[in-house]
This record gives sequence, structure tokens and C-alpha cells, in this order.
Amino acid sequence: MDGLLIGDKVTGGSGAVLRSINPADGLTNYEIAGANAADIDRAATLAQQAVRDAGWRKQKPHERARLLSRIADAIAANGEALARQQMIENGKVLAECRAQAASAAATFRYYAAACETMEAETPPARGNYFGQTVYEPYGVIVAITPWNSPLTMEAQKIAPALAAGNAVLLKPSEITSGVGLIVARLALEAGLPPGLLQVLPGNGRETGTALVNHDAVRMISFTGGTGTGRAIAAVAALRLIPAALELGGKSPNIVFADADLDAAIEGVIGGIFEATGQSCVAGSRLFVQRAIYSSFVERIAAAARGLRPGLPESSGAQIGPLASFAQRERVESFVASAREEGGQVLAGGQRPADQALQAGAFYLPTVIDGLSGAATVCREEIFGPVLAVLPFDGEDDLIAQVNESVYGLACGLWTADYKRAWRVARAIEAGTVWINTYKQLSIAAPFGGFKQSGIGREKGLSGLRLYQQAKSLYWGLDG
Ligand code: NAD
Repeated sequence: MDGLLIGDKVTGGSGAVLRSINPADGLTNYEIAGANAADIDRAATLAQQAVRDAGWRKQKPHERARLLSRIADAIAANGEALARQQMIENGKVLAECRAQAASAAATFRYYAAACETMEAETPPARGNYFGQTVYEPYGVIVAITPWNSPLTMEAQKIAPALAAGNAVLLKPSEITSGVGLIVARLALEAGLPPGLLQVLPGNGRETGTALVNHDAVRMISFTGGTGTGRAIAAVAALRLIPAALELGGKSPNIVFADADLDAAIEGVIGGIFEATGQSCVAGSRLFVQRAIYSSFVERIAAAARGLRPGLPESSGAQIGPLASFAQRERVESFVASAREEGGQVLAGGQRPADQALQAGAFYLPTVIDGLSGAATVCREEIFGPVLAVLPFDGEDDLIAQVNESVYGLACGLWTADYKRAWRVARAIEAGTVWINTYKQLSIAAPFGGFKQSGIGREKGLSGLRLYQQAKSLYWGLDG
């Protein structure tokens, strides 16, 4: 199958072959050749020409907005096909894939509105001149994405980068190459000039490295693991180009004894086990106040045992497979390390027995007790359905334990005391804190990480500015 989109043509690549495997049944979806350095060079040249010749950056914001809205309509009209493509590639349950397709369309709509209504600034003059701040695109940007949510992650990069007047070279994850290709074709059909959105699948070593090192690329927008982010940041530092990095997490979910415990159970369970734990904001460390520790943890373990694993397409499935068989092995090795370090597995800790699921990369929702915060599964991102539970006493003890992590992506907080919620929310080192809720996400609010969870903020109006650089104009008024 041809898997690259260069200019306005779907074409074969000349790089390493990628095989897409459906993690629900182990069958091959397709094979494509990824992009090599020569493919990337061709696409980058076309992207530079498109920025220069298509007049994209010179189009009035409302004209760019009209096109982004048409792309949103096309994504919405093809939502079912997009949802099913993501489902066969990464195994997410169909209901979530459908919601993410709708969210991708909404993201294009949001940035159409933002593009049309964002105003430039007039800083107060300190002399006899009139000052203006205008925002210019970088030119060609590269967007590199992970496999857990290509539908939303790619829209979150493409829509604001185009709205800001750039051309985008998209490199999807090697195991989810198909979604971006469909979106890019829909964008062309909606009237996007060729060259402004091109898709270059491939592995990180060959395609990713060549892209971030290409001279034409002026900015990198990356979502993925912290180790990869560090390697990309090193390239960006040498090349002196900006890199926005959305990285890993080990997010805490905190339950105080005075919380609405039924709501907290639902929030904790959804917070870790939705998407089979493969979410950057998964609440993978549960801190429970000591007074309610045993009873609450028992309820959590029972709720985890009650979740139904199933094929992604079946309507009752609450837990789909992991996105790949390699990812399941990784999860299994983490659970083995927890057992070796003295952890007690209260739920899961194994593959499901259901015969219908044997061919897929399934793993049961797992709850582990009895470890200290220093244990491997309490420190490292697993990216799977594994929840480590830990007790805390007072606020100081809690904040010290929570902030010990090198990550700082998100946090959940369950309490009836709003003053305490305010104090704790401000003290936690995380880019998002949810109070009496979890995993509420809005395209209108900035999103990103503290510490090793990232640099920069996507989404919201700052998510558009991410793809622009400020320019100051001084209009002399003397004489
Ligand atoms: P990954 O870092 O292995 O890969 C991400 C992307 O980077 C892929 O497209 C890959 O091909 C590419 N890549 C790998 N090496 C590269 C290199 N040297 N140069 C350029 N590109 C390279 O991540 P993954 O396993 O696909 O995804 C899981 C990770 O993503 C988790 O750590 C998760 O927390 C993180 N993530 C973060 C967010 C967020 O918003 N903070 C969202 C989703 C996922």
C-alpha cells in the first residue's frame, strides 16, 4: 500500500517497511514503505514552495478560517471511517474512537474561529512612534505524533499550525500511519493548497531523525515519550530552532477522606483504565488518605475486577487491547518488577481468560498495593492499565510524595473542602489539575507538562501562538 502524501499525490516511500497489525486479533492491516531522506527532501521543498507561492500566509485570517472550517466538515462527514481506521491500528474501543473523530473536527473549528478573531497588539509607546506587535508563521514545521490518539493529537498540531500560516510535515507513529493520511487527503479535497499538509510515515530512527534535522524545518512540534523528547530537544538546541514537547507522565489521583467517594471511585477507575491506560494523563498513582485507605482500595480493586475487556468494536467493551503486542510485554515486565519488589496484586496482573480475546494484546486492569513511592511502577511511566496505590497522612506528606516524581503532566484531587483543594492544587507540580473530576479536556484550555512532562503549551489560544513568532513594528512619527 502507498502510505505517503507528498504534494497532492499519495505515493510509496523508499524507506523501511512498516507493518500495521490490528492488536485486537493480531492480523496484518497493511504494509507500507516509510519515508527516507530523499522523500523528505522532496516534501520539504514542496512545503517551502507552498508557504511562498500558495499565498497561504498572506491570505486574510477569515479566508484561512473558511478553509479550516471546510476541513472540519470533511472530518465530521468521514468520522466513522476515521474512527474505524484508528480502532484497527491502535485497538481503542470504537466509542472512544468516534468521540475522538468528533473532537478532531471540533479542533479544526476552534482554530478556524481563533484564526479569524485573534487580534494583534499595540504596546504603549515610550517615544514618538506607534508600536505594533504582529505574529508571523515559522514557515515549515514538523509534527511528530505517538500512537495512542492520532486522531486528536494530530488535529491539535495541524489545525493551529495551518491557522498560523505554516506548512506542516506530519510524521505519524510507525504503528498508526493511516489516520493522518486520510485527514490530509480530506484537507486537499476541501481545497487546502498542495504542499501545506504532507504525511511522511516512518520509524523514528530513519524518518523522524531526518525530518528534525532537515534545513527547511523551522520548528518541531512533538508528542511522545520523554526519552525521545530529550533526543529531539538536543537536535533543536544544535539547530537553534524551537521545539514544543508534550511528553510522558506519572499522574497522581488523590482522594481525601472527606471526598464524595462514589464519584472518586468512578474518576479514579476512568482516569487510569480508559484507553487501557495508554493515555499520557492516565492517573497511574493513587494516593488515598490513611483513614479510608483499606476500605477505599478494596472498592477500587473490586471496580477494576468488574471492568469488561472486549473486542474494540463490541458495544459492551470497557477495556480494549493494548496498542501492540510489544506494549503488552512492556506492561507485563512492569507488573513482574512490582511483584519482585514486594507488591501485592489486588486485581488483574494477567491476561484475560476469555477465548475470544486470546489472539489480541489484551491485559486485565491491574491494581497494585504494598509498594513505596520508590518502586519502579510508582516512578516510571508504564502506559498501560496498571494502578499503584499509596497511603498519605496530611497535606505536607502528600505534596512531598506527589512532587517527588520527575513528571508533572496532570493530577486529580477529590475532596469536599474547597480551601484545601485550592492549597493542594496550587502546590502540585503539574500542568493540569482536576478537582472532583478527571480527564476533562478542552481544546480551549492550554495543555502541557511541568518538569520532564514537557515544554510549551498546546491547545487554547496559546496553541496558535506556539506556531508563530512575534515581530515588533515601530512606525516613526517624528518630523
Ligand atoms: P515515542 O517517543 O516512542 O514515539 C513518538 C514519535 O516519535 C513516533 O512518531 C516515533 O516514530 C518518533 N520518534 C522516535 N524517535 C525519534 C527521533 N529520534 N527523532 C524524531 N522522531 C522520533 O512515543 P510512543 O511510544 O509512540 O508514545 C507513547 C508516549 O507518548 C508516552 O510516553 C506518552 O506519555 C507520550 N504521550 C504524551 C502526550 C502528551 O500530550 N504529553 C500525549 C500522548 C502520548
